[in-house]
Parts: sequence; structure tokens; C-alpha cells
Amino acid sequence: MIVALPRNPMHVHTADALILRTYRYGEADRIVVFLTADRGKKRGVAKNATKSRRRFGAALEPLTRGRVSYAERERRDLVRLDRIEPASTPFAATTGRDAASAAHALGHAAYFAELIDEWAPENSQNDRLFRLGASMGDALGHGGSIEALARYFEYWLLRLEGVYPGLVTCPQCDRQTLGAGAVLVAQDRAYVCGPCAERQPTLGREAMAFLKSLGRRTPSDVTTVAASAEALREIEHAHHRLITLHLEKELRSSRVVRELSPS
Ligand SMILES: [Zn+2]
Repeated sequence: MIVALPRNPMHVHTADALILRTYRYGEADRIVVFLTADRGKKRGVAKNATKSRRRFGAALEPLTRGRVSYAERERRDLVRLDRIEPASTPFAATTGRDAASAAHALGHAAYFAELIDEWAPENSQNDRLFRLGASMGDALGHGGSIEALARYFEYWLLRLEGVYPGLVTCPQCDRQTLGAGAVLVAQDRAYVCGPCAERQPTLGREAMAFLKSLGRRTPSDVTTVAASAEALREIEHAHHRLITLHLEKELRSSRVVRELSPS
């Protein structure tokens, strides 16, 4: 007797993608979470990726950008990841750096990838997020200040989500006072001027000027801006709070990055 089975054919796709995260799946396979340029975030099974490094090799490092081939069935969450041809890997960011600084760079690649993973929509295109992530991988490889690049990335990520606080006008007094310094007021998710917050600004004049400049900078030129370590640290604290507020959780890699930071 011949039974007609309902058909659910496989569709094969090839796309530019960013690797966001991988984890073990059974004995030999890995699940790879990747962001495609055209169809959003996907989860794929990479068969034998744990045992055979030949097919995927170093291409599974978070923030690797490359060409992926995968097969998908309708109504299935997991795709089958067949191939990754890396165009750039975060290991490029380690050349010319000493061991500690190379670990710092790779830690940031993982941090950027984890934040993209948190914000990327499943199965729907977000071209600006994809391009931001791809440009971060390239900029890490160009050397320069990783701290400045990280603050740039956080700023743009929050801005693309439409949640970056205003940098000019204080929402409490409605005056353009923020250039002189600001305090992040968590319950309002806003920067407020010192007099309104009744506190010394935690983001000084330099930090505010640096933040204002980010809207017109590129990832590679931000790494060469002479921003003081203090201003970058003030921004780091503010961004860390904003990200935690919006994600309502602490990221794994952000703790790792802070532990790795050269003091
Ligand atoms: Zn004010």
C-alpha cells in the first residue's frame, strides 16, 4: 500500500551572516545561532561540528562574518547548517596585540555578538543591525581603542532600537543643558542635567561631547578618537545600566569583558 505523506520540502538558502553563538547539541553536533542579512536570526544544527573541525573550523567563533548555506523546512525552528565560508573572523583582531589585549579583543567580539543575539529578531530582516555587527568585526581587526569602539557599538545598538536617551535637552527643565554634564536617571531612562538631578553629573562634559559625536562617526574612525579613559568609563557605566534596564538582565559576556579590562 502506498501512503501519501504530507510534503514539507527543504528550502536551501545562501546568505551573508554573522555567527552569534554556538552550543553543544548531543555528542558531536553544535547549534549555531546566526544572523542572516536577509532573513534575520536563525538557529542551525551543524552536524559533527564538535568532532570534525574541517567543515566549520574557526568559522564558529562569535562575530565571524561569512557566507552560510543552510536548509530549512517550514514550521521547523531548527535549520540545517551545511557550510560557512568565513570572510572575516574576530581572530584578525588579535594580530599585533599582546596576549592580554588579544583576549580583550575576543572578549569584546563575544560581547557584541551576545548583544546582537539579544536584540536580533528571529526570522525577520534587520539590515541596520546586521551592518552594525559586520562593521564591528571589521573595526576590531583594525586595532585602536576597543573601549571607544564598544561605547560606539552600545550607543548605536540602543539608538537603532529607538531607546537611546536624548543628549541635548534635559527632559526635566526642558533646557539644552546636557552638554555641561548629565546624570542617567534610571526610572526615566533619560539623561538629566546636574541641577535637576540634584547631583554632580556622572557623565562629564567630555563624555557628553564624545556621545554627541557618535552619531556621525564610523566604527573605524571612533577607535582613533582621543577620548580619555575616564570619559569612556563614565559612558560604560551609563550604557551598562541602560542595557540592563532594557534587557532586564545582566549579560554573561559583559561581566567577562569587565573582568578582562586592563585597569
Ligand atoms: Zn534640567
